[in-house]
Amino acid sequence: MPTLTILGSGEAFDPLLPNSSLLYEGERTVLIDCGFAAVQALWRRSLDPDLLDAVLLTHHHADHTFGVPALLMVMETPKAASPRKRTRPLTLIGPPGTQRYITALFDLAYTPGMKRLSFPVEFMECAPGEAATFGPITIKTALPDHGIPVLSTRWEESGVPRFAYSADGKVTPATRQLFRGAPTLAHECYALPGGEGPVHTHVEDVLKVAAESGAETLILVHQSADQRHPIADYARTQKIFGGRVLMPEGMTRISL
Ligand SMILES: [Zn+2]
Repeated sequence: MPTLTILGSGEAFDPLLPNSSLLYEGERTVLIDCGFAAVQALWRRSLDPDLLDAVLLTHHHADHTFGVPALLMVMETPKAASPRKRTRPLTLIGPPGTQRYITALFDLAYTPGMKRLSFPVEFMECAPGEAATFGPITIKTALPDHGIPVLSTRWEESGVPRFAYSADGKVTPATRQLFRGAPTLAHECYALPGGEGPVHTHVEDVLKVAAESGAETLILVHQSADQRHPIADYARTQKIFGGRVLMPEGMTRISL
């Protein structure tokens, strides 16, 4: 049975928790988002340079992408705990412009960037609303409202819906539709109602969209560090969503 590990559930500038990042392990192993604190959470889980088949970047904000140069460098650098280098290809999935963005980022971080790697990186760009197929996994996508292109995703393996994830942004009719029928929904939940600002979602909306979707499990991630405890209290006493609500504060593995 596939599993989803919450490597981090923090906000961009969280002093305590790694930023939001997930690890999907099924027929393929995929890291979902790779911010500057997510790589350390991944390395605590495994230093195997061949662990990942792919990395999916939901959007081009630093808290979701700036760990990629370190991730690639460690795959290329033998260590006592992982003496081999990676040799097999790594697929990098993201919104349009991902190849240019990651190539420039890696070049800035450790010039000459991609030329350092002895394994191939294969880019797969996917516009919000399109689907990306990766082996037996189909990743359907939709656009939330975050001010820039973001891939909210719905994961199906061999045709079976496994989970949906919205890393950043307000709920839209397209994401609402995407989540329908997914048994597990992981969603950003930045604040209490009124504190979410222009590009995030508040807890009441997340609970409503989870109830509409028919999900059995809701995972709240990407809370503002200042609002984590009020959101937890709200989630504990709410009557909107009847399923299981999880708010991980450390590495948490869930069967899908
Ligand atoms: Zn963002």
